[in-house]
Amino acid sequence: MLSALVLKKQGIEVTWVSFETPFFSSESARKASARTGIELITRDITQDYMEMLLAPRAGYGKNMNPCMDCHALMFAKAGDLMKERGFHFLFSGEVVGQRPKSQTKNALRYVEKNSGMDGYILRPLSALCLPETPMEKQGLVNRETLLGINGRSRKIQMDMAREFKIRDYPSPAGGCLLTDPGFSKRLRDLLFVQETREVRQIHLLKHGRHFRLNSPESTDKCKLIMGRNKADNKNILSLVDPEKDLRLRHTSLPGPDAVLTGKFGREQVQTAAAMLASYTKAKPGTPSEVRIIQNEKESLIQVTTPVSSEFQDLMI
Ligand code: SF4
Repeated sequence: MLSALVLKKQGIEVTWVSFETPFFSSESARKASARTGIELITRDITQDYMEMLLAPRAGYGKNMNPCMDCHALMFAKAGDLMKERGFHFLFSGEVVGQRPKSQTKNALRYVEKNSGMDGYILRPLSALCLPETPMEKQGLVNRETLLGINGRSRKIQMDMAREFKIRDYPSPAGGCLLTDPGFSKRLRDLLFVQETREVRQIHLLKHGRHFRLNSPESTDKCKLIMGRNKADNKNILSLVDPEKDLRLRHTSLPGPDAVLTGKFGREQVQTAAAMLASYTKAKPGTPSEVRIIQNEKESLIQVTTPVSSEFQDLMI
């Protein structure tokens, strides 16, 4: 928001573009656009993002976050839009030194080179710490009104926000879902063990408990996803593929909804039913009846309720 407002103050016409994938949304950008009146274009880049995410050239951060290649891809996509719509250059709110890995001078340079947009990217908040860009040299932008912010402190940005009368802005901490250790663990399993990049499967990673029912070496990939509460149950069921997945629920006790996905046979279905029973109020050692549904066909399975701790090792 600040970088756009700095340019707008110079009389430069600005438009925002925000990218969407299952890992981040345009929600904050929409709010910012509504607040400032700056036009916002949103683009879903999931397909290209998944290609990049499988093998990012600069590698991952602490978790599954490929921040440098993520920025490079976004600038490449923004560059396509720039050409399509006849814009003169790109800008971002990146600040030198704000993130230890992805916003060093070298990282910013990596992004320029690897996005194919070298010479077209301006960082108005840190411009004075960086070499002069062609846009400044050509007089499209007045370098004198740009800033030289460097480092992790956000004091200057907060003062600027006050000056621009922006009160309500997203917390500066935290990145997208790919920086979350738990989510990253499940995603790594999905991409490299389950070997799928189905978008609904990625969304499923956000809900419930996930268990691997085959050994990682097995060619039969089978996963059980079980709700932890009503909201999880609802979200999981909304992402079921009725033709591929198998749904499970205890016939008489409240508890989780569960979904078996991947390649499964009778043995995995029996295990899944027992696991589901163990997460209800049924006493360990007592019989439980579980309803299973696939392709709109229902059947019942009888199991002896085990204790849920038996399955801890299967949790992803
Ligand atoms: S935190 Fe997520 S959205 Fe942000 S740069 Fe890193 S990977 Fe991309």
